[in-house]
Amino acid sequence: MIKKLIRKILGVKEKHDPSRPQILSAAEHGIDPALVSPHALRVTQTLQQEGFAAFIVGGAVRDLLLGVKPKDFDIATNATPEQIKKLFRRAFIIGRRFQIVHVMFGQELLEVTTFRGPANGDAPKDEHGRVLRDNTFGEQHQDAARRDFSVNAMYYNPATQEVWDYHLGMADIRAKTLRIIGQPEARYREDPVRMLRVVRFAAKLQFKIAEETRAPITVMAPLINNVPAARVFDEMLKLLTSGHALACLQQLRSEGLHHGLLPLLDVVLEQPLGAKFVTLALANTDERVTQGKPVSPGFLFAALLWHQVLEKWNAYKAAGEFPIPALHLAADDVLDSQSDKLALQRKICTDMRDLWAMQPRFERRQGKTPYKLLEHPRFRAGLDFLELRAASGELDTELAQWWRDFYESDGPSRESLLQQKPREEGAPPAKKRRRSRRKSGPRSEGQAEGPRAGEAS
Ligand code: ATP
Ligand code: MG
Repeated sequence: MIKKLIRKILGVKEKHDPSRPQILSAAEHGIDPALVSPHALRVTQTLQQEGFAAFIVGGAVRDLLLGVKPKDFDIATNATPEQIKKLFRRAFIIGRRFQIVHVMFGQELLEVTTFRGPANGDAPKDEHGRVLRDNTFGEQHQDAARRDFSVNAMYYNPATQEVWDYHLGMADIRAKTLRIIGQPEARYREDPVRMLRVVRFAAKLQFKIAEETRAPITVMAPLINNVPAARVFDEMLKLLTSGHALACLQQLRSEGLHHGLLPLLDVVLEQPLGAKFVTLALANTDERVTQGKPVSPGFLFAALLWHQVLEKWNAYKAAGEFPIPALHLAADDVLDSQSDKLALQRKICTDMRDLWAMQPRFERRQGKTPYKLLEHPRFRAGLDFLELRAASGELDTELAQWWRDFYESDGPSRESLLQQKPREEGAPPAKKRRRSRRKSGPRSEGQAEGPRAGEAS
C-alpha cells in the first residue's frame, strides 16, 4: 500500500498485473442497474446463494458501461456445467469446442459458462494452429485472459455492483479502442473468427482498432478459410444483422480487409452495379434493424449474391439456354460455390431461390399472370427485391413502380394498370444506369431503399 503511494507520488506508472483485477465501484463505472435483465439477476443470485462466484460478463458489461441496454446476457461462474444445470429448471448443456449451459426463462436465453483455464498446450488443433476443442476450467483471471478484447473481459457483479476489470478494459472503453488481449498473431491463429469480430465491434460501437490489433489482419485474413463454414455463417449473420452492416463493410474496405476476410463479398464488390446493389441492400437492412423490424437472412444473402447469379444467368442465356432454366442453373452454381465457405441452411437457400426465381416473373404484366404472382407467399419480399434492383440502376424504375402500384391498388385500378401499355414492354431490361429517377412511391414494410443509400459508392 505504502509502496503504491510512493510510486504514485513519484509518478511511476504501476505495471499492470492482469491476474489482479481493478475493482470499480458503482460511482466509478456508472452502470445503471435498471438496464440489467431480471433473469440475469436471478441467475447470478441463484449461483451466489449456492456459494459460487457469478458475474455478468462480456458484451453485456461492455454495453452496460456504454449506457446501452444489452440485447443478451452472458454469465460466468466457477460452477461446473453439471452444477449449473442442476440449479435451473430449463437448463441445457450444449457445445463442443466449449461446453456452455443455456438457461431459459420464457423467451430469454442466458448463456452460462464456467471460467476457462489457460489454453491447454495439448488441446487438439488443426494444421494452422486453430484450437479445435478445449474445455479446461480455471480461475477467473485465466478466464479473462482467454477472452478476445479488453472491453469484452470485464465482469459485473449485480449484488455488489462492482466491475472487475482485468485488462484495462475501462480505459479502452473511455478511449473507444478495441484491443486484443495477449499477442495478436497468436490470438488470431487460435481463432481466426476474432478478425471478423473486431471489425464488427469497431463498426457497431464506432471504436477504433488499436494499431497492434489491426496490423496483422491483412496478412492473416486467409486463415478464415479454415474455419468451419457454419461458424463463419453465424459470425457473418451477426455482422450483417448488427444494424451496422454498411459501416462494417465500409470499414473492411477502408482497411483493405474485404479480400479474403469475407469471401462472399470479394466478387460482389468488384462490380460497380453489384456494389451499389449490395450497398442499398445493407443500408436497407440496417434501417430495418434500427427500427426493430425482423430481417430475413434469405433476403440478405439473396441480395449479396444476386450479381453473381446475374452474371451466370446472362452467360447461360448467351449460350442458348432459355431464360428460366438458365436462371435455375445460375442459382445452382452460385449456391454450390458458396456451400463450402458459408454453410447456408436449407431453409435460407430455399428462400434465396424463391426470390431469384420470382424476378423474371415480374417482367410479365398481362392477363392473369400478375394476379398469380401476387399470391406467391414470398411476393412482398420479391417486390422489395425488384425495387432494390431498380434503385441500383439494374432495371427500369417504371417496372418496379408499376408493381408497387398494382400491389397497392384495388380491383378496378388493377384492371386499368393491366390495360396500360408499359413503357419498353418486351424489350430486354434496361442495361444503362438510370440515376435518381426513382419515384418516391409508398414504402414497403420490406427491404426498399433506405435513407442512407446516398452513401453508395
Ligand atoms: P454481441 O453479443 O454484442 O455480439 P459479445 O461480446 O457479447 O457481443 P458474444 O459472441 O456474445 O459477443 O460473446 C460473449 C463473450 O465471450 C465476448 O464478449 C468475449 O468475452 C467472449 N468471446 C466470444 N467469442 C470469443 C472468441 N472467439 N474468442 C475469445 N473470446 C470470445
Ligand atoms: Mg453477447
